[in-house]
Amino acid sequence: MSDGGDTSTAGPHLLVLSGPSGTGKTTVVNRLVAESPVPLRKAISATTRKPREGEQHGQDYWFLSADEFSTRRADGEFLESAEVHGSGNWYGTLKSEVDHAIEAGYWPLLEIDVQGAMSVIRQYPDAVTVFLKTPSAEVYEQRLRSRGTESEEVIQRRLQTARQELQAAEHYRYQVVNDTLDRAVAEIRQILKATAGD
Ligand code: ADP
Ligand code: 5GP
Repeated sequence: MSDGGDTSTAGPHLLVLSGPSGTGKTTVVNRLVAESPVPLRKAISATTRKPREGEQHGQDYWFLSADEFSTRRADGEFLESAEVHGSGNWYGTLKSEVDHAIEAGYWPLLEIDVQGAMSVIRQYPDAVTVFLKTPSAEVYEQRLRSRGTESEEVIQRRLQTARQELQAAEHYRYQVVNDTLDRAVAEIRQILKATAGD
């Protein structure tokens, strides 16, 4: 069983990416996985929320029932888990996702919320943590709306969560502004290169 205590700089590091919903995390992650300078593998999170149009079980998330999620949580299968956005939906990183990636020589990429990230930092102090921001609050709201996947009520809740999440940005090792996609991806690639060269 993993105690999560690997604090050496050699070998794979965890990459933790957070930022308010709509900042562009999923878009950035897709680009990074394709263009990373280190072997990077996305840890597929589990969630109790319903799939959005086009989302695939085992690819975007492991979509679990509330019962299955809570049983697996009680059994200690999660590295971290949290109820996100006050929505009643749970999200969590399965230990198996991280352990299997590391065993295969990959750097696990965790796209998780601020609560989850704080828990991961305690367990993996050498994790590379990146907080993704938009250039302004207006841009953030535009992107959230432009995706067109959430109701007004959900958007309002996510805007509220975003204001709280931004206060946690200082706890991350790096803050990256997702102004243009190419530039933001290049900056994170640079961070990974520098970490690998430590
Ligand atoms: P998140 O995963 O953080 O919730 P998404 O990746 O779904 O965010 O992005 C939200 C919306 O913003 C999407 O419509 C996406 O295409 C768009 N987007 C992401 N990055 C940029 C960028 N750098 N410039 C303009 N639009 C972007
Ligand atoms: P969405 O519903 O838009 O896919 O994700 C909503 C939020 O859940 C995002 O802020 C995302 O970072 C967070 N999230 C996704 N997976 C996990 C996870 O495994 N753990 C935690 N703590 N948060 C997650």
